[in-house]
Amino acid sequence: MALIDSHCHLDFARLGNVEQILAQANAVGVTQFVVPSVDKNNWREVLRLARQYQPIHAALGVHPYFLAADNQLPQLAQLATNQRENIVAIGEVGLDGAISAPLTQQLDVLLPQLKLASDLNLPLICHAHKAYDPLLKQLRRHNVGAGGVVHGFSGSLVQATEFIKLGFKLGVGGVITYPRAKKTRQVIATIGLEHLVLETDAPDMPICGQQGQINTPSNLVYIATTLAELIEQPIEVVIQKTSENSRYLFDL
Ligand code: ZN
Repeated sequence: MALIDSHCHLDFARLGNVEQILAQANAVGVTQFVVPSVDKNNWREVLRLARQYQPIHAALGVHPYFLAADNQLPQLAQLATNQRENIVAIGEVGLDGAISAPLTQQLDVLLPQLKLASDLNLPLICHAHKAYDPLLKQLRRHNVGAGGVVHGFSGSLVQATEFIKLGFKLGVGGVITYPRAKKTRQVIATIGLEHLVLETDAPDMPICGQQGQINTPSNLVYIATTLAELIEQPIEVVIQKTSENSRYLFDL
């Protein structure tokens, strides 16, 4: 049974040696990894990892946390077009209502990336925090044909349904391992396995009981186990279906 971590930052130095991380993950059945980038400073490194390690798949994008003073978008469009055969998504991109950069400025960076995903027929990896409705509005206006994933989803059932209508999957991460995350656990349990992919967001988003520690892709097993308990389905079914969803979405 092969698990796919649909969102992990294997290039972040905090994780340590990539080969070790891959070996540990493999030992517990996590066999493929989608690694989004955050801005121009890690595009090359993410591409290099995907070139060097067959189980790693790269995505290129500009995250709203990393809006540089200079315009990275022409460079991104050129690189993503040249590397089209070596990437599986545009991301991570998105909107964040909790950072100092105003949404208007974030939109200037998001909209060209929606167009890029459309032009290259690639799915999007979306970061959304306190901004699900504004993101939905943009996705309705600028439909991205290949859909995408809302990573670390923690919105409402209505928002989940709206993303699904637009061809999006919901990324299920460590949040569901926290009993206090009642709302998210309930939405995820209700929405149906066919709309879910699994992710760790390593090295961030530690699972319950490991707060303050570095998160690794091996923890995907705990997330899958928690999901299986939550929806009262065998773990094998959860693994098979979520991996199938990731393979389909990212064309792995
Ligand atoms: Zn991330």
